[in-house]
Amino acid sequence: MLTRPTYAGYIEVPKWDVGLRKGHHEPFINWDTFEQIQENLKAGARPAARKDINANFPLRGYVACDDCGKPMTAAWSKGCRRHYPYYLCDTRGCPSKRKSIARAKIEDGFAEILRSLQPSSELFELARAMFRDAWNMRLSEAESAKKALEKQCKDAEAQIEGLLDRIVDASSPTVVTAYEKRISKLEREKIRLTDRASRVVPPKGRFEEFIELSLEFLARPWNIYENGSLAMKQTVLRLAFPEPLRYSRENGYRTIKTAFPFRVLEGICNQKCEMVPPERLELPTY
Ligand SMILES: [Zn+2]
Repeated sequence: MLTRPTYAGYIEVPKWDVGLRKGHHEPFINWDTFEQIQENLKAGARPAARKDINANFPLRGYVACDDCGKPMTAAWSKGCRRHYPYYLCDTRGCPSKRKSIARAKIEDGFAEILRSLQPSSELFELARAMFRDAWNMRLSEAESAKKALEKQCKDAEAQIEGLLDRIVDASSPTVVTAYEKRISKLEREKIRLTDRASRVVPPKGRFEEFIELSLEFLARPWNIYENGSLAMKQTVLRLAFPEPLRYSRENGYRTIKTAFPFRVLEGICNQKCEMVPPERLELPTY
């Protein structure tokens, strides 16, 4: 079922000699997604993520052992009455190997760090303006990307026309088949290009949608983390911290490197940071 282009809004019926073409029906998924699925199917099965473990230990993989720098793993230990959750380093040769740290220690310390990332409200107008500038720049980039894609699409079309002319003149069936193969390849390319061109420029209203999400994240990463699903927690972790946080058994969390937007906000707070031009503002991609 996953290999049928019907769900991406296209039809193809080889037994009736109907090559791949746009259907008149509403697609469920876009062409890019369809192609991604085909690639995934080709790549074969991958092991399932350990959901149970991750939900109980949202920081697993994001907190590193301070002695060896490798991400800690997590587990439940069996006490006499109940199980106790803990994080631990599992690196061979590390002095902290198999020395468990209670989950509460790791997670409370982390909560404190994330709470400290909440900047003052005055910064939001500034942040908003920076987002808008960055957005407008992306928008004009997208417009030119769209033009480029449309041009490539026209080129493919011209090539198809040229090949069709040659088919008319060709007498050998082998040559005709070769041309037909190239045409169907080009048709597919055209579909891919058209699909991308139609989606490269975000629809109106998208900015507000994006900026609300982004600003809410910058304003209250802790709330989003605290109330979000596991996927949301992991998104917050990835957006807020460019690398795993290092935790030392003796001293707790080491100096934290926060992601760029937070550093900018912090810099403005301290009035030590030079204004960062919007083109250097790294926006999270959604
Ligand atoms: Zn270690």
